[in-house]
Amino acid sequence: MPQKQLKTMGQQQKRRSWAEPWKIKMVEPIKMTTPEERKKAIADAGYNTFLLKSADVYIDLLTDSGTSAMSDRQWAGMMLGDEAYAGSVNFYRLEKTVQEHYTYKHLVPTHQGRGAEHLISQAAIKEGQIVPGNMYFTTTRLHQEMAGGKFVDVIIDEAHDPQNTHPFKGNIDLQKLEDLIKTNGAEKIAYVSLAGTVNMAGGQPVSMENVKALRQLCDKYGVKLYLDATRMVENSYFIQQREKGYADKPVAAILKEFCSYTDGAWMSGKKDHLVNIGGWVAVNDEDLFDQLRNMVVIYEGLHTYGGMAGRDMEAMAIGIEESVQDDYIRARIGQVQYLGELLTNWNIPIVQPVGGHAIFVDAKRFYAHLPQDKFPSQTLAAELYLDSGIRAMERGVVSAGRDPETGNHRYPKLELTRLTIPRRVYTEAHMDVVAEAVKSIYDNRKKAKGLKMVYEPKYLRFFQARFEPLA
Ligand SMILES: *Cc1c(COP(=O)(O)O)cnc(C)c1O
Repeated sequence: MPQKQLKTMGQQQKRRSWAEPWKIKMVEPIKMTTPEERKKAIADAGYNTFLLKSADVYIDLLTDSGTSAMSDRQWAGMMLGDEAYAGSVNFYRLEKTVQEHYTYKHLVPTHQGRGAEHLISQAAIKEGQIVPGNMYFTTTRLHQEMAGGKFVDVIIDEAHDPQNTHPFKGNIDLQKLEDLIKTNGAEKIAYVSLAGTVNMAGGQPVSMENVKALRQLCDKYGVKLYLDATRMVENSYFIQQREKGYADKPVAAILKEFCSYTDGAWMSGKKDHLVNIGGWVAVNDEDLFDQLRNMVVIYEGLHTYGGMAGRDMEAMAIGIEESVQDDYIRARIGQVQYLGELLTNWNIPIVQPVGGHAIFVDAKRFYAHLPQDKFPSQTLAAELYLDSGIRAMERGVVSAGRDPETGNHRYPKLELTRLTIPRRVYTEAHMDVVAEAVKSIYDNRKKAKGLKMVYEPKYLRFFQARFEPLA
């Protein structure tokens, strides 16, 4: 774990730091802005960080999706793109790599994660069926609903409590799931939708014990188990660190074992795979594969490219191999933990335990004097930008939208501001700057007055809503 911390804590004994297992070959300059420039930029953006221009951002923690830095090997691989319409060399390389690291027999490439979600939802859900899962993800649930399914959350209760330190807050509550199957009948269940790690719960992992038990339960009732493998490498690292019996196993082996308990998976390559675009769906079942392979030509592209260029598939195959290296994943998650520890030591309220890809600041406790309809998480994101040019994202009442029946705001339990760390992009010094910026606005928190919404689009309002500061 982050040893640099010792310095911060004023301790001198036995320091053995570790550092990233890479060095920097090419740099991308970023803009340092003045307070006046930031004041103007955030006002022009209606105090919504989604509406900021990236050129006005100093440290961009909006998302870890498609924002990874590729390695020299991946860039070299781009030159090996075989841009044939059918049967590209790079497809077979990718297929072999996914089979080797994720175990599934049949691969269908897609343009990104939601393309894969679309295909598997359409192929595996019948109108009126139920899809139980460990907390929803925005695009996943929407595709399941559009295929006629009804998503039911069966995650353990601990996941909904930002202060509960359960080591595997992504676990499925097996009793909740079994009750659901018994009440509705197994034929009413499309499949179990398991995600590792769980983004909306704060990047929380699922244990090996849980997936094993889940496999048994699914077998007992003849229900399929499909995995959202988007951050499954990060999940595997947490198993290595926290679960009995896995401390000496390589992350690559843990990933394979976990996948072996599931019937198939979909993937957003924009996360774990260290590329800027791409995805796939992979399954063991021949008939389902046949359906997916047929559907992909309608929506994505031929089944040997699915919306990706040959060079994209090559970069992805290399990215997969790099992503399962223990040294890499330790540094990736270590950086997130490092930032989390700094904030925790300063008693800044964040979701615990710190997850794999982001810090979620608990804006309800941060701005205890601001009621939810003054948009505390949105305020925090705007203040962070004003202070230091850092871009974060609101995950609270704005993201939750309005209740379609009453027209009132939905007031979610979790009112969070997300600081998402891109892979291999920023250094520990950037994390220090981020932590100090959060601390600085925390020290001045009592002065915050909140925001009022002055423009509200009908769909997914958090992307385009505009605000003004309250006097
Ligand atoms: C990002 C993401 C998706 C959707 O993938 P895209 O590549 O953005 O289309 C699905 N599931 C999870 C858990 C994700 O984080």
